[in-house]
Amino acid sequence: MPRPTQCEPMWLRDNCACAECRDPRNGQKLFQITDLPQDLAVAAETAAEVDGAPGWEVVWSPDGHRSRYADAWLGEPEGGSGGPGWATGVPRTARSSGSRPI
Ligand SMILES: [Zn+2]
Repeated sequence: MPRPTQCEPMWLRDNCACAECRDPRNGQKLFQITDLPQDLAVAAETAAEVDGAPGWEVVWSPDGHRSRYADAWLGEPEGGSGGPGWATGVPRTARSSGSRPI
């Protein structure tokens, strides 16, 4: 069974569907991925019901935000927005920038 901790945290948080992160009327994202904390991580994952289906509630570190993800959604490696979100085999090029000014 897929678990939130097996996913790339930035991707998972980017796909949070709560009213704080997405406008419920048009589904528009209300933040930029660059607004997320650099050290974003899953602080806790708890089995929870999501829209009547089995899923997970995730508590984020360091900001304490809560997200819910349905099992069925996590089970699709492509996710809801075309992924890839799975940590295994995902190139992490976006995270490291080699050209940092001194
Ligand atoms: Zn959210």
